[in-house]
Amino acid sequence: MAKVRLEDIKRRFNNVIAVEDITFDIPDGEFWVLVGPSGCGKSTILRTIAGLETATSGNLYIGDRLVNNIPARARDVAMVFQNYALYPHMTVAENIAFGLKMRKFDPKTIQERVVNVARSLSLDHLLDRKPKQLSGGQQQRVALGRAIARKPQVFLLDEPLSNLDAQLRDDTRAELKQLHQQLGITTIYVTHDQVEAMTLADKIVVLNGGRIQQIGEPQAIYALP
Ligand code: ADP
Ligand code: ADP
Repeated sequence: MAKVRLEDIKRRFNNVIAVEDITFDIPDGEFWVLVGPSGCGKSTILRTIAGLETATSGNLYIGDRLVNNIPARARDVAMVFQNYALYPHMTVAENIAFGLKMRKFDPKTIQERVVNVARSLSLDHLLDRKPKQLSGGQQQRVALGRAIARKPQVFLLDEPLSNLDAQLRDDTRAELKQLHQQLGITTIYVTHDQVEAMTLADKIVVLNGGRIQQIGEPQAIYALP
């Protein structure tokens, strides 16, 4: 069954059509990557799925639920942005726990989740630190941890590695892939980096001028002519 389903999604800002004719079904557990030039509509699609934007027309389903009019906080999706956006006054453990506390998980479950997430992302030894005592790569791992701690149905990432230097980007990319293999959360990932798309994607959606140009497996999209 599809975990995320977009049916003819369109988003207009005044007289600018940001995206239109956007239709696809993502099967449960797959990792899909949206690529295309700046301004082609990648972020608009991701933000619409997150509930941070509202589609002008079309239908959006998460699981079997029509979520067009469901607010972001009730959609069971988690999003990670380019700039980690951690809470500076909280420790790593408190940052990871934040969404669980907000949702009134019991303290024992929170503690278990924090420990498990920290182990998956090699953050065990950093739990008591504040964000400013961490490298950029470590901060982004905390942001990933905070997003997955509540086990969302759908994980959305908007260029999560683009602020990292080359080595950290490679390491974090590998960790992200491992995390996905471990947890199997349906993931939608925006990038303009071909290596990221090639190594992470089950399917790549190529966008251009707000429309889908092609959907395919990485080897089909990036096949040599
Ligand atoms: P990408 O993420 O691929 O760079 P975006 O989804 O950010 O593309 O933008 C797609 C198009 O929609 C662009 O033409 C952009 O200028 C326009 N757009 C996005 N957000 C807004 C907004 N809030 N108001 C007006 N136009 C917007
Ligand atoms: P990206 O390249 O990641 O899409 P942008 O700088 O294009 O980032 O957009 C950042 C934010 O500004 C997004 O929230 C987007 O919706 C908004 N935005 C993009 N284009 C416009 C625009 N023409 N007018 C108003 N807001 C815009």
